[in-house]
Amino acid sequence: MNKNPPCPLCKKLNTIKNGKRFENIQSYKCSFCHYQFTKPPRYSDNDKAIALALHIKGISSTLIAKLFGAKPHTICRWVLDYKTHASPPPDF
Ligand SMILES: [Zn+2]
Repeated sequence: MNKNPPCPLCKKLNTIKNGKRFENIQSYKCSFCHYQFTKPPRYSDNDKAIALALHIKGISSTLIAKLFGAKPHTICRWVLDYKTHASPPPDF
């Protein structure tokens, strides 16, 4: 009877509730790859645009991750998403 959403990273269903984020958003953690995620998504497109702009300016993904309370891996994924979709760069 596991109603938790599957892990967006490894697609496995063995996720556990991991407390609540701000605005009472339920957070989940994958017990397989330890990826933490929320449903709905924790970060807005605007957050990603800012992170991307910082990345373009040469800020390390580790530092950007700290600013957003995310993992460096998450920032790398945003950058990869951007490169894949090739949308216009954010105007900063
Ligand atoms: Zn996982």
